[in-house]
Amino acid sequence: MPLEEEKNRSNGFEPSSGKSFVLLLVLCCFVLVGGAFVLWWVPYVGLSNIHPRLPLILALCFAAVVLFGLGGALTLIFTIVWGRNLFINRKARGIVIRFLFPLLVVLGKLMGISKDDLRRSFIAVNNRLVLAEAKKVRPEKLLILLPHCLQFHECPVRITGNIENCKACGKCKIKDLVAISKRYGVSISVATGGTIARRIVVEKKPHIIIGVACERDLTSGIQDTYPIPVYGILNKRPHGPCFDTDVDLEMVERGILTFLENGKPEFQRPGPHSP
Ligand code: SF4
Repeated sequence: MPLEEEKNRSNGFEPSSGKSFVLLLVLCCFVLVGGAFVLWWVPYVGLSNIHPRLPLILALCFAAVVLFGLGGALTLIFTIVWGRNLFINRKARGIVIRFLFPLLVVLGKLMGISKDDLRRSFIAVNNRLVLAEAKKVRPEKLLILLPHCLQFHECPVRITGNIENCKACGKCKIKDLVAISKRYGVSISVATGGTIARRIVVEKKPHIIIGVACERDLTSGIQDTYPIPVYGILNKRPHGPCFDTDVDLEMVERGILTFLENGKPEFQRPGPHSP
């Protein structure tokens, strides 16, 4: 089962394949074509009086802009739907993160789509683009970034700063996540908010991040850390938001295996003196 579908199922959400995002993108294309036509047609009536060829020149300019926009949107849609690494892929992620998402949020609002639905869709689309880039990294360049709310609320241990302070009592998944990070030799950190998360990223300089968080924090994290790719895994919130949250460990592990260079636990990797 693809990592994406499994993630959505495991979180108990409606499977989000980025459908709302793609639909809004298609709507944008129609708005673009309609807008260009209106912009061309209105002056057309008057422009021909200035010079008979001016309406044609203007129409060609608009056609070029529309074709460029449509070409970009269609390439993006095919990338999302097929999950293939198309030639503009790396730039596509930047366009989605920087320009399209804020635009689609406004459009989605007008259409009554909830912000969290759009964020889930955005995360799903981002994940597809990150997977399409299929960047393989060395273990030390992969960072697992966790939210503080995963820690058991009565735990007296301070794990921000150094997650290895965890006493592995097993009352929350931090114990298992530390074990997973050791198994694969990847970095792992806990952030209490966006500022700390940014600081961790600056310090560790990862080439790829597997981020666990809610819709809002994952969305802002993906935007803040661009161009570093972030593979987002939504946390589970059986006790409500920001309190004793949970995560699907298998999803985290499969994410690690997807992005690691040799995709093997540390003890199975050949050592420096191996043949
Ligand atoms: S597993 Fe670690 S972080 Fe979680 S409650 Fe126990 S000591 Fe605290």
